Amino acid sequence: MTAHLLPPGIEVFERGWLSANNILHFSDNDVSLVDSGYCAHKNLTVDLVCNALKKHQLPKLNKLVNTHLHSDHCGGNAALATAFNCEIYIPAAEEIAVKNWDSTLLSYDNLGQECPQFAHHAVLIPGEEILLGKYVWKILAAPGHDPHSIMLYEADHRILISADALWEEGFGVIFPELWGEAGFEEVAQTLDLIETIPVDLVIPGHGAPFTDVARSLSIARSRLDYLASDPGRNARHGAKVLLKYRLLEWRSRDIAQVNDWIANTPALISAAKLLNMDIDEFIQWLPKALVKSGAAKLEGETLVDLA
Ligand SMILES: [Zn+2]
Repeated sequence: MTAHLLPPGIEVFERGWLSANNILHFSDNDVSLVDSGYCAHKNLTVDLVCNALKKHQLPKLNKLVNTHLHSDHCGGNAALATAFNCEIYIPAAEEIAVKNWDSTLLSYDNLGQECPQFAHHAVLIPGEEILLGKYVWKILAAPGHDPHSIMLYEADHRILISADALWEEGFGVIFPELWGEAGFEEVAQTLDLIETIPVDLVIPGHGAPFTDVARSLSIARSRLDYLASDPGRNARHGAKVLLKYRLLEWRSRDIAQVNDWIANTPALISAAKLLNMDIDEFIQWLPKALVKSGAAKLEGETLVDLA
């Protein structure tokens, strides 16, 4: 574990894949949380924060900061706002989408996911700084996985909160490419940016914190080359991740309902087009592809999640 590498005033709640990690920052003056997990786990997220507040004898949660607005990073926002009356900070580029709660602009319709509505109080502007707990963090733009994603960097301890821009073994799906927007070049630029910063510890959006940044950058770059050299690969991978993610929540689902969800999810319809499949062909292919990869199994007419 890397918990001993964290300076005082930072605690990471490492979550499963359905919920992104939550990072608690605390001092006498400020208690902030980065990312709030998926809505299905909202009670656990509130409990994790409550327990940590008790453990560290802190009065309340002041701020909730979202690296980006995918449903696994902000699905707990509404519940945390109700529990703690905290202020919510979102990437500046998402302000109008959140204000109007435009679920198309916010990706939930497009990706076939859910996120309870919340209101924001402030925005995160790349290049500016924000106080989280004891330390001041620089806000960095990190487009690629999501065009509006940000990362957070603390120079004294050389810590990077990378969200889904860099994991120990890769990065989040390059979603924009699924519907014909640019993403490969942005991922490359974000990896280049990370390489220019002195980083001793990365706290990713998913998985344990890690220290060998050079190794992870090299894995991420070869992964990017593999995906960008054949956009069909990115589309197939993205489609499987979207179904797997949904299945993590469902646990098991009648195949007819799975097919119905696939046929009504715009990002998957776009992926089918990119793969030159008609939607019936795609519906035949996707659940089988997930089974073939070992992430699910078919029991009669039911698709079952395999951890
Ligand atoms: Zn994400």
